[in-house]
Amino acid sequence: MSRETLIDLFYLFSATTFVLALKGLGSPKRARYGNMVAAFGMLVAVVATFFKYVDGHPLHHVWLILLAMLIGVLVAVPVARFVKMTAMPQLVAIFNGVGGGAACLVSITEFVHIKASHPATYVTLEVLLGVLIGTVSFSGSAIAFAKLQELVTGRPITYPAQQFINAIIGAGALVLIVVILVTGSEVLLWILLLLAFVLGIAFVLPIGGADVPVLISLLNAFTGLAVAASGFTLGSNLLIVAGTLVGASGILLTRLMSKAMGRSLSNVLFSAFGSVITASGDTTRDDGRTVRSGSPEDAGVMLNYASRVVIIPGYGLAVAQAQHVVRELAEELESKGIEVFFAIHPVAGRMPGHMNVLLAEANVPYEQLIEMDEANAELSTADVALVVGANDTVNPAAVDDKTSPIYGMPIIHADLAENVLFLKRSMRPGFAGIENELLYNPKTTLIFGDAKDTLTKILATVKTG
Ligand code: NDP
Repeated sequence: MSRETLIDLFYLFSATTFVLALKGLGSPKRARYGNMVAAFGMLVAVVATFFKYVDGHPLHHVWLILLAMLIGVLVAVPVARFVKMTAMPQLVAIFNGVGGGAACLVSITEFVHIKASHPATYVTLEVLLGVLIGTVSFSGSAIAFAKLQELVTGRPITYPAQQFINAIIGAGALVLIVVILVTGSEVLLWILLLLAFVLGIAFVLPIGGADVPVLISLLNAFTGLAVAASGFTLGSNLLIVAGTLVGASGILLTRLMSKAMGRSLSNVLFSAFGSVITASGDTTRDDGRTVRSGSPEDAGVMLNYASRVVIIPGYGLAVAQAQHVVRELAEELESKGIEVFFAIHPVAGRMPGHMNVLLAEANVPYEQLIEMDEANAELSTADVALVVGANDTVNPAAVDDKTSPIYGMPIIHADLAENVLFLKRSMRPGFAGIENELLYNPKTTLIFGDAKDTLTKILATVKTG
């Protein structure tokens, strides 16, 4: 068997592991295993590449490649190990951005290489698409990172005729690609690079912080496509398969996230959602209705009398890092014969699967995590709905108020339970920036404070009860 065939077989093996990994990532139970399978497949592919012959020669610059890999490992491993769960979307954004940037660099190198070795040959479309998509993904991800890290405002940044200007930049880039295809001009390639860079920034600026995770998923799909384009450029089947898998899964995830928010993708990308905060932050409404607040001890007593409790976690659980204490509370209640389950909204938190990952980290049994639709069917039989740091995902305005920006988003119907215990620090709104009627519902008792502190006190009362 020739060296090339053997390497192709290793690549085929790697491509297969990527498909199996995606399957594994489809469920919280197998996600860790899925990740390991993909990492192993990637290791095999990287090692095999070192034995590849290019144009009849062994790989050049092996030491430089190894040095670059070492730098990558030294940066990425500590960053990935020590990143906080709440900062995970930023991390994905920046990793994704460098992926897009790398795909763009491959395309530029290939362009220069083609022009130097065969000046009469015109470049091919995939090289230019690699430059365009890779750069948009790079600069767009950098702005997404800056927004999530609060280096720039998370609110949408808008100006007059913004979408029109963006459309002109996008159309300009496409026209340039056609001209470069016809003329092979290297100067125009650099102008395309600049235009794509500006397009990435301009595209992301008007997108509000709440929608940035959806955007990151879309940019991730772009990076996948840029990598697939590099695969065509370099004649690498593995890159084509890997890039297409990332592109396709990124687009599916983007669609799923938009659907779970009850919004279209174009609304997410172009409506500057979240630019206005309409919640007053008051404990009393204009019509005189007021919130009822209680102490953690009141909450503990109520829970002790319950026979069925539904815990509804949201972004605040991640902020407070209260996943361990909430698991302890659930165990304590169960030990007293009280039935407990967690109702998981698909977009609770700030990234897909956020609550599943967080609760898995605290060893909450998967059987206790119930998806939104199933949970809603059970909620009317619950004595207490314990809302921990969730807000938009339990906001009845999504169902009742046609004028609400979140109208149409499926929610967890906490208000169907006999009592609602609502844990948050203040009257500040959730990410959508809007009032939550559930806070003023006569069934609801607000327990103000950091979720971890409050749950610790509730747990202490439950234990003594
Ligand atoms: P929200 O953002 O609606 O609300 C979070 C709540 O947590 C706030 O009310 C906040 O109130 C409270 N909170 C914050 N820190 C603490 C703390 N330390 N202790 C106690 N409470 C705290 O969260 P949800 O999970 O309900 O909704 C997610 C939102 O994010 C939705 O709008 C969704 O569309 C959006 N989104 C989700 C994505 C995903 O993939 N998961 C992607 C993109 C957007 P206070 O400040 O008063 O404490």
